[in-house]
Amino acid sequence: MSKRYESILDTVGNTPCVRINKLGPPGINLYVKVEAFNPMGSVKDRLALGVIEDAERKGLLKPGQTVIEATSGNTGIGLAMVCAQKGYPLVVTMAENFSVERRRMMRFLGARVVLTPASDKGSGMLAKAVELAEAHGWFLCRQFENEANAEYHARTTAPEILEAFADTQLDYWVTGFGTGGTLKGVAGVLKQRSPNTRVVVCEPDNAPLLGSHLPQSRADNGMPSASHPSFRPHLMQGWTPDFISKLTEDTVNAGLIDEICPIEGSKALQAAMDLARKEGIFCGITAGATLAGGLQIAQTAAPGTTILCMLPDTGERYLSTPLFADIETEMTPEEIELSRSTPGYRFDKPSAPPPSVASPVTATPEAEQFLAEALTDTHQPVVMFALEWCEFCWSLRKLFSRCKIPYRSVDLDSAQYQQNNLGGSIRAALNARTGVVTIPQIFIGGEFVGGCSEVFDEYSSGRLKERLKNAGVEYDDSLKLDPYSLLPSWLHPRK
Ligand code: PMP
Repeated sequence: MSKRYESILDTVGNTPCVRINKLGPPGINLYVKVEAFNPMGSVKDRLALGVIEDAERKGLLKPGQTVIEATSGNTGIGLAMVCAQKGYPLVVTMAENFSVERRRMMRFLGARVVLTPASDKGSGMLAKAVELAEAHGWFLCRQFENEANAEYHARTTAPEILEAFADTQLDYWVTGFGTGGTLKGVAGVLKQRSPNTRVVVCEPDNAPLLGSHLPQSRADNGMPSASHPSFRPHLMQGWTPDFISKLTEDTVNAGLIDEICPIEGSKALQAAMDLARKEGIFCGITAGATLAGGLQIAQTAAPGTTILCMLPDTGERYLSTPLFADIETEMTPEEIELSRSTPGYRFDKPSAPPPSVASPVTATPEAEQFLAEALTDTHQPVVMFALEWCEFCWSLRKLFSRCKIPYRSVDLDSAQYQQNNLGGSIRAALNARTGVVTIPQIFIGGEFVGGCSEVFDEYSSGRLKERLKNAGVEYDDSLKLDPYSLLPSWLHPRK
């Protein structure tokens, strides 16, 4: 970890196996492999790198060619990192019901995300990716069938596990399956090089695709041709899509699976929370689900048994999901009590303002002239005197930008206005003119409108529209919105 690396891609893999000290029964050696240590926080960074480099080697992916994949999120996030580093444009198709954190992360990394309807399930997003790849000549990763996915795990994840347990017998290796890449790649190697390790595959108890032993219908190219009859929606995002992938089926057919372990949703959530609160290991829902599987094995295992569970990803991409449903944003009654247990810095008793140490700033002639010119500039009749990063100013900027209202923003605390404290002087000149000390202050056609609330209220009453019309400002007046919704939530009135 403390080495020098040539690029972020060299940091994929080599994740730690960590002992679980408090959650398992005594006498059992329970370990987890924490895939959140990968650069983008999930096991799918491995697949992303494996598939792209395999396609490069085989000449299937040309420099600058667009890459496309259907993903529940983590593959897309991993691909976005690999494509950003290697310079490939990336398009991801994703069903709309996967967490919004994932979408925004991929877009932050420069990818484009095409959503598909939740009702079309995993196979819908897959079919959309195929459609787009064919129509545009893009490289489709095919993570569910691509052998490079499993091979990368056979080459990295499996040897890492063998090395970590070189000095002891590993009795159980516990995983789930999404693409089945982890499963096929690791199980294949373990069966050869550690034949006494039992391979346990977990799946949601309400979607027992493997447990039902019903076949998956499949087209000639290996892709599923219909949803599996045992599929039901479940909360373990990344596990058990609505079909058994080719890679997973290969593993079943090769007899590499020793046990199938159904996992209840509530047990998965509880295990993820226990990992966080009792072991300090922060991971996602499928990680909780895999640990829940490991704990089930541990209940009946002989003393001295060693179990390793895969923890596929970090918990940070689940803030909007059932994993965080009971985690408050506001203070709980207990925290309010704590706040009230000492006198200062409370919401029910405002603190005294700190004594002002700054010497009063006066309006210089330069500032007066600046203000006079700004307020009579007929090319820019809407002027906002603002602070660069103030939340109220940002909310107003959002309103102006949504309505396409052209305006000049004079950011008084920005670097541009710092020489001789010109910004402070302009603020003093404004204060003398309007009698208002707070910022932002908005003028239209030289007339003072007010601050953020006054502009919001005038927008809602229609008065702003009149002012803009009188000042000859063209904008989009078709939009209907509650401007107060543009304020960040911590500025909404506290209940
Ligand atoms: N958990 C999560 C959170 C995932 O994103 C994935 C991959 N879809 C998996 C588990 C399963 O990994 P694999 O695709 O290698 O079976």
